Amino acid sequence: MTCCPLFAGEFVHLYEVNYSQGSVAGHSAYDLVILATPLHPSKSPIRFHDPAQPISVHSSRYQEKVVTLVAGCLNASYFGQERSEPFRPTAITTTAHAGNLILAASIAVPVTEVPDRQPPACARVWRLLSPEPLAAAEVSRLFPSPQAVREARWLAHPRYSPSDEAPPFVLHRHLYHLNAVEWAASTMEVMAISAKNAALLARHRWYRQLEKVDQDIVTLGQKVEL
Ligand SMILES: Cc1cc2nc3c(=O)[nH]c(=O)nc-3n(C[C@H](O)[C@H](O)[C@H](O)COP(=O)(O)OP(=O)(O)OC[C@H]3O[C@@H](n4cnc5c(N)ncnc54)[C@H](O)[C@@H]3O)c2cc1C
Repeated sequence: MTCCPLFAGEFVHLYEVNYSQGSVAGHSAYDLVILATPLHPSKSPIRFHDPAQPISVHSSRYQEKVVTLVAGCLNASYFGQERSEPFRPTAITTTAHAGNLILAASIAVPVTEVPDRQPPACARVWRLLSPEPLAAAEVSRLFPSPQAVREARWLAHPRYSPSDEAPPFVLHRHLYHLNAVEWAASTMEVMAISAKNAALLARHRWYRQLEKVDQDIVTLGQKVEL
């Protein structure tokens, strides 16, 4: 933190954010900071420094998920289909006890058309989701002759456990972390709600309108948090 312009007659502390992008380093001072990324060392190596009021970060354990993109024709006989029958699923889901490494598969549709090449009717790009990398044999059970295979590993969401405590949204006076909500649910929609709530929370705390924070009883239509 750095010190101190005046706000409403009082000194305020500013957050000095140091960053580097490639070989370019820089820094700026902010009244408040909202972090919108999971605080996992391999996802976002962000370090905090305030000797007066140390910031402790929830030790984040994330679940790895692997996405494998496969271009090729799906093995219809694997699903008990005769070759002569049309077999054109667009999504395949599995149950927890199906004994498959593949959790789900769906067709990946390109955002732009590929005009000149005409692939065979069955060839599509499939997106396979699995908890660990797929061996070549696993892929070839579903795709006997894959034309291309690409793999991406993700730390997809927190590894949930019933004993988990919800991490804080407020890391420091005016330092917020909206991904704390991922410990309740980790989806795009929930992140959008968390972003709005973080902005409201930051505003109310900045203007000291604390009666608008954690409202238990409000008249219908007056609640300002989601
Ligand atoms: C394989 C997979 C499948 C999923 N499927 C679904 C689904 O079907 N439906 C759904 O709702 N959700 C799904 N999710 C979850 C969804 O993607 C996340 O909930 C959502 O992306 C979280 O959004 P976010 O903006 O909080 O974080 P992110 O999308 O992770 O964005 C964080 C951003 O911060 C950037 N960043 C990190 N560190 C720094 C730094 N130090 N400085 C500057 N920038 C930084 C990152 O580069 C990134 O761009 C899926 C996730 C995965 C991995």
